[in-house]
Amino acid sequence: MKILATDLDRTLLPNGSWPADENAIPLFNEWTTKQGVLLVYITGRNLNLTEKAIREYGVRFPDILCGDVGTTIRHYKNGAWSMDQGWIDHVHAMSPRWDNPAIRNLLAQIDGMREQEAEHQNEFKQSYYVDHQNRDPILAEVEGLIDGKFDEVLVYSFDSNNGNGLLDVLPDSATKQTSLEYVAKVYKAGKDIVFCGDSGNDIFPLTAGFLGVMVRNADEQLVQQVTEAKQKNDAIQIYHAQGGFKGLNGYYVSGVLEGAYHYGLLDETVELTTPLP
Ligand SMILES: [Mg+2]
Repeated sequence: MKILATDLDRTLLPNGSWPADENAIPLFNEWTTKQGVLLVYITGRNLNLTEKAIREYGVRFPDILCGDVGTTIRHYKNGAWSMDQGWIDHVHAMSPRWDNPAIRNLLAQIDGMREQEAEHQNEFKQSYYVDHQNRDPILAEVEGLIDGKFDEVLVYSFDSNNGNGLLDVLPDSATKQTSLEYVAKVYKAGKDIVFCGDSGNDIFPLTAGFLGVMVRNADEQLVQQVTEAKQKNDAIQIYHAQGGFKGLNGYYVSGVLEGAYHYGLLDETVELTTPLP
């Protein structure tokens, strides 16, 4: 089974400040469908915002959606979504001390940080906007208050579109990385999965032993984190798209295609009708 997993915003979706290739999304839809890859979206978006992106940008439905930064897993079949109950049970079993009401109470009073809207919270996700300029002392305060007591993990990222720092407090067993590991296990794929990302919250799946791809527009923070991770462990495989593949520029979905091709997930024997640039 060939599995292609990808982040959405500014990885698959062209919603950053870099130029997007005109036919890259139709090419992605056609190629991955004809090639029969199992397509997984791993995103901070919830289900509503994922469906909005699918409508807005015309990307195809995935087979599996690891949404809400991996805290939910849904399967898409015959036009309908179904929640993966096995994943919910797995997270409860692996992170027994997770307690989001208690975390919410503890973190309510920290200056420079405010809770995200209700639609961005769920049973396994407690999320905040953080004053990015002051992130170091703020994150230190968060760590001091909750560090390790709730089987939690802190995932910080920066939204270059609006300058917001984003902090997700998640069970340590329910992240982008662990949701992908769960999918890999269920589909018996081992580590033979390509994962594509662009920013800080993609560092864990990128360095977890999968076949990693950074799109050309990957942010500086991520490139630096990847460089450091590779210095510690040179078995880590990460391809940084540069453009040039089939005349595509390497940004967003063009970088996903370039990376997937690099690892042999897509091949030339498939007859494609989408015109190339
Ligand atoms: Mg992204």
